[in-house]
Amino acid sequence: MAKEYTKPLPHPAPESEPFWAAARAHKLKIQKCTSCGNHWFPPSEHCPECLSADHDWIEASGRGRVFSFVTYQRLYNKGWEGEVPYVVALIELEEGPRLLSNLTGIAPEDVVCDMAVKVVFDDVTDEVTLPKFTPA
Ligand code: ZN
Repeated sequence: MAKEYTKPLPHPAPESEPFWAAARAHKLKIQKCTSCGNHWFPPSEHCPECLSADHDWIEASGRGRVFSFVTYQRLYNKGWEGEVPYVVALIELEEGPRLLSNLTGIAPEDVVCDMAVKVVFDDVTDEVTLPKFTPA
């Protein structure tokens, strides 16, 4: 557990609270429409495919691929002091949705698109756990 976490933290909205609660339990959950079967992220009240409000929160496999990424070479926020360069990646989950996250356990220069990754959980504070990804 980090003693002093200086980076910005998420502020869960009612529709995203189940995602953050699952992350605290080290589970990656996404919404699945009970009308059409679509999986989606980021959280929202209605299915972006069929607009149904009926959905379940399902545990994703945690496996995915790097769809795209950028390597930050410059310090934009003091919270990342000493961590530049770092990678922000768009991860395409096995279930279909894409989410932005960080890659860990790999040097930025070794990251390539389409590489297989799996989720890991970073307990950054007592209340917040961030899903991140590492090479599978
Ligand atoms: Zn739907």
